[in-house]
Amino acid sequence: GPDPLAKVPDPSDRLLGGLLSPDFDESSCLSRYNAALYRRPSLHAVSTYLVSALRRYESLHRRCGPGTPGYARAVELLRANASASSSSSGSCSYAVWAPIEGLGNRMLSITSAFLYALLTDRVLLLHSSGGGGDLDGLFCEPFPGSTWILPAAPGDTGFPIRGIERLTDRYHHQSLGSVLRRGEDPGAAPWLYVHLRHDYTKDSRDQQFFCDDVQARLGAVPWLVFRSDNYFVPGLFLVPRHEAELARMFPRRDVVFHHLGRYLFHPSDTVWGMVTQYHDSYFASADERVGIQVRRFYWAPISTDDLFAQILNCSQREDILPSVGVPAAKGGSDGQQPAKQKAVVVVSLHGEYSEKLRDLYQGHGGAAGGQEAVSVHQPTHLGSQRSGEQQHNQKALAEMVLLSFSDALVTSAVSTFGYVGQGLAGLRPWVLTSPVDRKGPGMPLPCRRAATVEPCFHAPLDYDCRAKAKGDAGRRVRHIRHCEDFPRGVQLV
Ligand code: GDP
Repeated sequence: GPDPLAKVPDPSDRLLGGLLSPDFDESSCLSRYNAALYRRPSLHAVSTYLVSALRRYESLHRRCGPGTPGYARAVELLRANASASSSSSGSCSYAVWAPIEGLGNRMLSITSAFLYALLTDRVLLLHSSGGGGDLDGLFCEPFPGSTWILPAAPGDTGFPIRGIERLTDRYHHQSLGSVLRRGEDPGAAPWLYVHLRHDYTKDSRDQQFFCDDVQARLGAVPWLVFRSDNYFVPGLFLVPRHEAELARMFPRRDVVFHHLGRYLFHPSDTVWGMVTQYHDSYFASADERVGIQVRRFYWAPISTDDLFAQILNCSQREDILPSVGVPAAKGGSDGQQPAKQKAVVVVSLHGEYSEKLRDLYQGHGGAAGGQEAVSVHQPTHLGSQRSGEQQHNQKALAEMVLLSFSDALVTSAVSTFGYVGQGLAGLRPWVLTSPVDRKGPGMPLPCRRAATVEPCFHAPLDYDCRAKAKGDAGRRVRHIRHCEDFPRGVQLV
């Protein structure tokens, strides 16, 4: 019979089953080929079709990326405000990504824009406004021999689309929705702003980005600027013209972010330094690594005590942490080592949860007369979100990556920070249910095993292109369902 392990990539495979290009100089980015030594080997095979699509993309990016004649020509046409008809076939076209919201949201929307670029032969470029520290110092270049950063050139000779950082309004004159509202042909525009911020669902015209006929026209637009705080990948799976290609790239649809995220996001040497330091001091000597991500949202208030009770309840009930037995007698059982060392890393803006957990496990021998020794760690507790600051974002990234080294994960519902950790790990986490009426233990279920490794698309379209009417994106196809942690959203399963 077929060997069930045949598809499992070799754990020592630094190229992640062909996902990564071998064309990089190792010293250009320490994490790129070394992350495989820290993370559990992926259980999810990469399709050869995806591998060849990525290699094809890389050569496109090399040919059309900044600094190439193709790029210069495309910028020139844009400056002349020339529409697609004046550009020749074989010319380069682009998907420009602009940041919004926290780092988790950004990584999910970059991944979505990249998948769109893969599907439509566009080159992905990131608009990093520089001064705000948006993505500065966070990631290595993902594409060999080129850059994914949109060059910033101030002055009259700069990039012709002015004020990308201020493009946030779906009513902007150049937004796809506005063009459709005016009854114009989107295919005739030299560039368009694709507004996919969560409020795009207010008007069907903004949602028509996900319609087949509009997609057909967009192929003629050389420059698309995206702004989204969402993981809009599931929406791309609803576009008929991309269906066949997506099915070949992802025979298993529930690991899109797992593969593309590990392909794109290689922490910079600075961030990697933090990651390996945390790993060496918390995880390295443990038999089992547990990651617990605690995120609190203002719209779902809960007291510290209730949330702590929920975390403990979940972890013990699911056998992630041992129940606390009697205090170990002084000297233990003849000074014997416990059978198992369990290391818990809590990541949170708040320090209370790891403190309480540490207090609980420190004074006790752990479960079953000290069979498990539990140590509790937390890299930082920064108090509040400051997504404009470089060091703050570097710490956040380091913690997401550290989470992804876990053997078991507990995450907070609706948090994109948690989605990135679980996605990079390739694990289905236990998700702490959102508090209802200030009570976490949304009892009797403190947490639920996630149905999928995939992130949730929080603001899916509610427009059915074929019916030209409202329609539920979670009921269209078998492999896209409403999210358990956020029922309004949809996800690939
Ligand atoms: P989400 O708001 O949970 O969906 O995640 P985002 O990553 O989009 O935004 C939250 C931001 O708050 C992060 O990017 C960090 O800047 C900060 N943050 C939230 N939780 C943590 C944490 O556990 N550790 C660190 N270092 N930062 C955090």
